[in-house]
Amino acid sequence: MATAHKMITLPSGEQVSALGLGTWNMGDDADRRAEELETLQLALDLGIRLIDTAEMYGEGRAESLIGEALVGRRDEAFIVSKFYPHHATRHSVKAACERSLKRLRTDRIDLYLLHWRGETSFEETLSGLQDLQEAGKIRHYGVSNLDAADMEEFVAAGGDAVATDQVLYNLSRRGIEWELLPWLRARHIPVMAYSPLEQARLLRNRKLQDCAQRYGRSAAELALGWLLAMDDVIVIPKTGRRTALRENLRAIEQPLDAALLAELDVLFPAPQGPRALEML
Ligand code: NAP
Repeated sequence: MATAHKMITLPSGEQVSALGLGTWNMGDDADRRAEELETLQLALDLGIRLIDTAEMYGEGRAESLIGEALVGRRDEAFIVSKFYPHHATRHSVKAACERSLKRLRTDRIDLYLLHWRGETSFEETLSGLQDLQEAGKIRHYGVSNLDAADMEEFVAAGGDAVATDQVLYNLSRRGIEWELLPWLRARHIPVMAYSPLEQARLLRNRKLQDCAQRYGRSAAELALGWLLAMDDVIVIPKTGRRTALRENLRAIEQPLDAALLAELDVLFPAPQGPRALEML
């Protein structure tokens, strides 16, 4: 049964779920595939509509899995996909998009991101993205792994409709709070936090486990709840298991209170000065 969830407003005014679902490594293991498919479908059933993927994930296997999960219910999902920097020329980005659309079994990607900065000029990439938008193949465009200086350049190159910057952000990786996050906030561009569980390493963190136990919550709920407490952060944890999906959903159903948020801020402080943007 779908429930109403916290939403985040994109610069276009469109609203998307604050809690999405990542798909890196999904579709790679034949033994896990059926459960992953059911997890994707359960996410939609439970109102988690934003699904993040990339042509890179399993060289298309994650997109194909999503395409299968969305048969007959494409309109329930907001699909985010990404193209490689070596597919960022005006011609290549259109070809990459066509391949992704085919695997996703759809006629449009809701939000299409440059996965990281490569050799192609932003002007050229943007001309390809604008062609795709005009053709109705993508609805919005954005970027990933760009620091504030790169964002300045992207916008100056004509990318002022950029919908998000998807970057590494979690309790143990707070470097973006110095420069990138304020830059995005000043322009009302939401950040999309990837690896919010630090690829499950945060779940084994002793400090987080102890804190979670004291509050009767799980470590995953705390890690996700801390990000979801911000009003301009979209959070995309990956799980291919229905039990973990339900657990992660509790982070949004039962928001963390101010005392717990303050404690997490002390346990996992932001760095003392600016840091280069980290990537995983
Ligand atoms: P993550 O979401 O921080 O962690 C995923 C790992 O945590 C998986 O091993 C998952 O295993 C496990 N997990 C999830 N929920 C759990 C729970 N409640 N209890 C126990 N284990 C749990 O890492 P991520 O996959 O790197 O990041 C999330 C998404 O962000 C990716 O899938 C991808 O869509 C995107 N991403 C983007 C970039 C980029 O460069 N733009 C880079 C990295 C990631 P199970 O599946 O077994 O539950």
